[in-house]
Amino acid sequence: MTNVFDRLTGQRAVAQELTDAATAARVLASRLDAGPPAPAAADFDVAEHDDAELDASVLDAADFDSPDFDAPDFDSPGFDDPIFDGPTPSPVVVPRASMTHAWLFTGPPGSGRSVAATCFAAALQCQHPDVVGCGECRACVTVMAQTHADVRHIVPQGLSLSVDSMREIVQAAARRPGTGRWQIVVVEDADRLTEQAANALLKVVEEPPSRTVFLLCAPSVDPEDISVTLRSRCRHVPLATPTVADIERVLIDRDGLDADAARWAASVCGGHIGRARRLATDPEAREQRDKALALARAATRDSTAYAAAEELVKSADAAAKAISAERDEAETEEMKTALGAGGTGKGTARPPRGTAGALKELEKRQKSRATRVGRDTLDRALVDLAALYRDALVVSMGAQVTAMHPDKAADIAIPMAAYASPEQLLRCVEAVLECREVLDQNVKPKFAVDAMVATIGQVMRSN
Ligand SMILES: [Zn+2]
Repeated sequence: MTNVFDRLTGQRAVAQELTDAATAARVLASRLDAGPPAPAAADFDVAEHDDAELDASVLDAADFDSPDFDAPDFDSPGFDDPIFDGPTPSPVVVPRASMTHAWLFTGPPGSGRSVAATCFAAALQCQHPDVVGCGECRACVTVMAQTHADVRHIVPQGLSLSVDSMREIVQAAARRPGTGRWQIVVVEDADRLTEQAANALLKVVEEPPSRTVFLLCAPSVDPEDISVTLRSRCRHVPLATPTVADIERVLIDRDGLDADAARWAASVCGGHIGRARRLATDPEAREQRDKALALARAATRDSTAYAAAEELVKSADAAAKAISAERDEAETEEMKTALGAGGTGKGTARPPRGTAGALKELEKRQKSRATRVGRDTLDRALVDLAALYRDALVVSMGAQVTAMHPDKAADIAIPMAAYASPEQLLRCVEAVLECREVLDQNVKPKFAVDAMVATIGQVMRSN
């Protein structure tokens, strides 16, 4: 049996916490199913309760995290400490963990934060009588395939998540679950919420329906990524960066890569499993990385700096177009068919009214998504470049820290450390980070990258 949490590479503590919470959630769900607790009196008459009273008491029972839920039932000897050493005093394993309505998973893109959220959703809906998140029941399988009717995945497609999509989410979240225990909303990239969208979400998170669970994913708890109020309503689950050895094992065991490719990809991926897989299997991703890292040398000479900068921006653009093109075409065809245009049957020759508007709207969305993919690709390249300067800085300080690009040490990082002072290298790191920041503020990529190579050139020539 493969538990859903087996997918969380190098996150043993997180997997345990989520398993405990999902177990507690089961107890809670069965209490909700049972309705309000029966009074002691034998002649309990349901008719005495009107609907409003009944609802209120159900909500009471659903008060997650309440002392009533946590304490009395589970307070057997040996459960005073969440972690106890030595033999379990009782054969009955009862989790102390509690459940809550809103969760925030943080970690850099690629750290598996949305995978963790999805696994947790599966564990919450899992139908196996004894295992939480069995990975094999219909609920687990459909949640992991993102086809479960009571688990919604919100993935911002453009640069930000609009208030309209958030309103849809809020409406859906208020419904009772169909087949599952909970109505679950997974918001990937919650850092891309617009302010109004975040406010709409905050409202429902503050007063959640008893059967609704929100799982938000963001890079960090920095106020730039998630509003302070929203964060304060969520239980925080920080994901650890998996080790090189963890990633290597996944690439070999799960993806069937050969040991050499896996070792190399794990060592240069910066802790991102998805990126490691792409680097190991996609020659274009490797080329893109080489281009980014070659910028370090090119930037030191005027004659090569701007051509290399342009090349980097162009290749990020091309990569984004390639990723988007396929999806766009399929979507457009689908919409045309749905609208009755593009068919060949009688009466479909002329597209119905409104078609052009809908297609234009779709085109706009696709364009916004392509821009985002392009930015993400370029940002990835800049992170790589900053890491290379950091490697040179590590060499120049003689620090005992693992290199981010060990394969480029002899070729670039070591010579660079011999050529430039630590101060210069630090200023290069800053120039790259500045470039990332201005890109985030919608500066045209070409201008931002040109400004960066100009700064780096100046710094490196100031010997
Ligand atoms: Zn299951």
